This record gives sequence, structure tokens and C-alpha cells, in this order.
Amino acid sequence: MKMSNRPHISFTEPFGVYLHIPFCSRKCSYCDFYSEPLSGGIVQDYLTAVTKEITFYRNLLGKKAIYSLYIGGGTPSLLSADQLAGLIELIVTSFSAPLSGEITLEANPSSLDQNKLKAYQKAGVNRLSLGVQSLIDQELKTLGRLHSASQAIATIELIKDYFVNFNLDLILAIPGQTVASWQETLLTALSFQPPHLSLYNLQFEQNTLLAQLVEAGELTGVDDKLDAELYQLALTMLAQRGYQHYEISNFAREGAYSSHNTLYWEYRPYLGLGPAAHSFDGNRRFANQPDLKKYLREIARNQLPLAEITRLTPEEKKSEFLFLGLRLRQGVELARFAELFHQKLEDVYSEKLDYLKKMGLIEVSGGYLSLSHKGLFLGNQVFMEFLN
Ligand code: SF4
Repeated sequence: MKMSNRPHISFTEPFGVYLHIPFCSRKCSYCDFYSEPLSGGIVQDYLTAVTKEITFYRNLLGKKAIYSLYIGGGTPSLLSADQLAGLIELIVTSFSAPLSGEITLEANPSSLDQNKLKAYQKAGVNRLSLGVQSLIDQELKTLGRLHSASQAIATIELIKDYFVNFNLDLILAIPGQTVASWQETLLTALSFQPPHLSLYNLQFEQNTLLAQLVEAGELTGVDDKLDAELYQLALTMLAQRGYQHYEISNFAREGAYSSHNTLYWEYRPYLGLGPAAHSFDGNRRFANQPDLKKYLREIARNQLPLAEITRLTPEEKKSEFLFLGLRLRQGVELARFAELFHQKLEDVYSEKLDYLKKMGLIEVSGGYLSLSHKGLFLGNQVFMEFLN
């Protein structure tokens, strides 16, 4: 099988693989990720195309070692266990078993059962990431989620029977959320002792139902003061229970950091497969067609389904390295910046660093530049400095 376009893409170190499964039963009110309603025929077309895409990359890159495998969406747990197992096997045999040992699958409480969990485990999945979002029914309704709090709780109990390593996704700053309701969600989630928690701040993304409702005055977002209180409550509760706060939104028990996600923040390469998936080879960012029909059409014509490919300038690389790395609590390593860019970070950004230090938003210590506690709450302000 030959590709008619062979863009120059090369990976010089083991890369993460992200596989996008673009199907959801229904669109959640806050979501702007690319997904399509699930229907029988289209799933088979997708599986045929993504199989071809994996083979294209195997031919283009050769049999390279991969670092991690992350299957996200959409809702990957909508695929049958056999379909997922087939894709995992193809990726592992085309490249390698992940060097970090980590194979993560995203799942939703409304599409999981015991048989699927058993089959995922058998297929090699060893980390499950569950989209819980809230354990308050009214908040789940606002988010347009299909599951109830009790369904999420029953699913977490079930997951614990099959997976030692799992993550729960939760959302803060949901319209109507209070300190008490957030505390209840956190306490219930923590009662299951999840090895990993991701706490995302709700964003009102353009063209989502939630943004329209807020614009029409039918819903009100939480104000900045409450938003900061909710985040601080999470920081305190999780620290008291021994969780390590290793990234702005991510918390883990010792040894349970997400290897795949850490690769993004450490500015390491990854290959995205499936519609709308993004890739980075260390020099170029490239993205697949964010539309299933176009994706299928390109692959049927033996073309890599790329919508865009951008070669980064040295300036863009430096600023990306910084604003991604500053998401990590340990921050960015000054020596790695010098190794990658042959310049000292302190020389390139001396004025910005002085300003941000004066504002109390960043710190330099032990060879790392990181956000201060105050900077954690004003991360976007810091990132914008490096973007400009
Ligand atoms: S299940 Fe996830 S990807 Fe699908 S619509 Fe909801 S938030 Fe978006």
C-alpha cells in the first residue's frame, strides 16, 4: 500500500501514540472536541481507514519504538472490545510495545460494563481514564452528560476490580457549583482512592450549547473568586491525602503520573492517528482532517489525511517549550532549554523573567523555572508573556 503524498516527517526519539476514536452517543453541552454520532456503517469505514493510516506511518517511519499509547476521543469505550483489541495489536506490531509500559483508554460511565473491562484488560490496556466530571446529578445535567452520579459511582467500583491504575476526570467551575457541592464530589471521588485525578476548569468554548446558554443569560458561569476557592479547596484536600500535584490540573499518587500526558508537557514527540488528531515530531506540528468524511476520502485516495503541517521557527519552539513545561509543577529544566536551543533561557527571556518574578508569578530554584503558588492561579497570564 503506497501513499501518494510523503511529507517529510521524522521522529528521532521514541514517540507517544494518540489514537482518536471520533464517536460519541450524544454531544455534551460544553464539548468542542471533534466527534460524530455513532452509527454502524461509519464505524467500519473508520476502522478500515485508521488501519490504513497506521500502515502508512509504519511504511513512512519504519519500525520505530513508541513510548506510550493513549486511546482517546470521542468515546473509545463505544467501540467493541474486539475492535479496540485489533487496533492496539496493530499499533504494537507495527511499531513496538510502549517503552513506558502505559496503554491508556478513555471511557465514559454510560458505555462501560464488566465484559468490556475484562476484554480491555486482556487487550493490553493497563490504565483507564473515566470521564466522571461531577458526582452531583444537577451538575451532570448542566454538562449534558448521559450518566448519573450513581451510575458513575457504580462504574468506578467496577473499574477497581480490573484496573489498579485509573484516573478520574472531574470539572470545576460548573454553573451552579458551590464549595459544598465541589467538596462532595471530591470526597466521594477520593473515597475510591484513585491513583490519578485530573481536575479541569470548565471553559465556555465557542459554538457549544453551554456558551450559547451563558450568552443568552440562561446560565451564569462561576465568578473568579469562587473559581479560585474551588481550586484551592482541591489543592488542600489532595495534599492532605498525599497526592502529588505534578501538573496544573493533574494529581497523582507516587508512581502514578501519566506517562503519555507528561510527554506533551515535556515537549517530546507524539504521533496522532484518526480524524482531528495532532502530532509533533520535534520540528513540525501536523494535524489530521478534523472531519471524518474528509479523513476517509483522503485515505481512500492513498493520501495521509493531513489538514495542516507547520514547520516551527526557533522562536516558536522556545515559547512552546516554555508554556507547556511551565504547566508542570517542577517547571522547565534550564539545562534542557540550553541543550535544545544552544542559548541560556535567562538570556533569551531576561526582561520577561524579571517582570514575572517581580509580580511573584514564577520562581527559579534548583535548576528549574516554575510557577509560584500565586502563578498557579494566573497561569494564563504567565503563558501569554511567552507567547507574545
Ligand atoms: S463524551 Fe467527551 S468527547 Fe464526547 S461529547 Fe462528551 S465531552 Fe465531548
